[in-house]
Amino acid sequence: MAKKLTAVYPGSFDPITFGHLDIITRACQLCDRIIVAILVNPHKSPLFSINERLEQIRHATRHLPQVEVDSFSGLTVTYARMQNANLLIRGLRVISDFEMELQMAHTNKTLAPEIQTLFLATSNEYSFLSSSVVKEIARFGGPIDHLVPAEVAIALSQKFAAHSNPALCP
Ligand code: ADP
Repeated sequence: MAKKLTAVYPGSFDPITFGHLDIITRACQLCDRIIVAILVNPHKSPLFSINERLEQIRHATRHLPQVEVDSFSGLTVTYARMQNANLLIRGLRVISDFEMELQMAHTNKTLAPEIQTLFLATSNEYSFLSSSVVKEIARFGGPIDHLVPAEVAIALSQKFAAHSNPALCP
């Protein structure tokens, strides 16, 4: 019987973009179970809270039955072991991604040799796309409907409207 493949796809997803969704959708064709896991990183100041991001990713992946959504802190490999995962999924866009990602993959291999890192190359149309790019466009009111799911686009415009008008902040 073929081995069941469980993958963890870790990241900040602040917010989830069509680039992430493309990787998740393609990973679904390779794995039996995929856990999209938001890394709680105390060194970053995210725009969206963990709960907001969990909700956004759940909504965006609701049509993909193999996908679970979770958050974690600490080492990715510790979390992956806890989930009995045998794969870590990462996406590659540009050469500069590769350098960091390869270093991370090697480090993770020394910590958990039984877990493999699987790199998926970005689809051409999303090679420029990152959460930061989307936030930068949204901050100045530019169009983002082709970059993120509709609910995320709405949430972004609300966030930046609230930021530019503190009276609207809760
Ligand atoms: P980070 O983990 O650096 O905060 P993200 O949460 O944005 O980055 O991304 C998580 C993973 O998704 C990383 O492996 C990243 O390279 C990948 N990724 C992000 N955007 C894209 C894209 N447009 N195409 C392919 N992979 C992507």
